[in-house]
Amino acid sequence: MEKQKKTVGVVLAEAAYGENGKRLTLFTRDLGKVTAFANGAKKAKSPLLAASQLFVFGNFELYQGKNAYTLTGAEVIESFYPLRSNLWLTAYAMYLAELTLAFLQDGITGKRLLKLLYISFEELVKEKIKPEQIRAVFELKFLALAGYTPELSCCIRCGRQENLNYFSPADGGMICHFCAGKPEEKLAPAIYQAMAYVLEAPVEKVFRFRLKTEYEYPFFTLMKKYTAHYLDYPLKSEQFLNEILS
Ligand SMILES: [Zn+2]
Repeated sequence: MEKQKKTVGVVLAEAAYGENGKRLTLFTRDLGKVTAFANGAKKAKSPLLAASQLFVFGNFELYQGKNAYTLTGAEVIESFYPLRSNLWLTAYAMYLAELTLAFLQDGITGKRLLKLLYISFEELVKEKIKPEQIRAVFELKFLALAGYTPELSCCIRCGRQENLNYFSPADGGMICHFCAGKPEEKLAPAIYQAMAYVLEAPVEKVFRFRLKTEYEYPFFTLMKKYTAHYLDYPLKSEQFLNEILS
């Protein structure tokens, strides 16, 4: 087996390793999630310095060892510098990265997932869409790509296709008028349409919809609840986000 690999990927986590090195967690197109040691990456003259920064998309050359990869070469595709220099954006990018890592098993690859991360980072940097909205859209599309698509076309309890007025994050889908109990919240049609759009749209168009201001926060909150339902533990970056938002 060829031990030297080259793949497009993104740095989703980093930790210090040895004196000048880094231990990187990459999500790559061809190998999925991998741990890669970047020896000497912190040295000013290291050829690995630029591409081994958090949130960088690059072409990574990896040598496969017994338990991990060693980064032998790297070339920056997009640096996303503002995601590291603006604390606010850093907090959101960290959340998207941590959410991704929380769901990915080693070896799962995903071209569309990598693209979703790329365009989400791009939108964060552009600062044209509210970061809360980028987060909410990412949560929904990401979970769908990871296999947790909410059921929007029929009642998750009885299968009816009419009178779908409620959404239950815990059940993962719509609830009809007849099955709804107390805890379910009514879902505004505008939010239903936004969710349907995000699920149907190709990844590159996933942010191209508008939601009236009055529905924004209910949509963001609903997506938070939906995501929290699938997480076994609260994400560190979520706590960090809450701290800087408060
Ligand atoms: Zn029902």
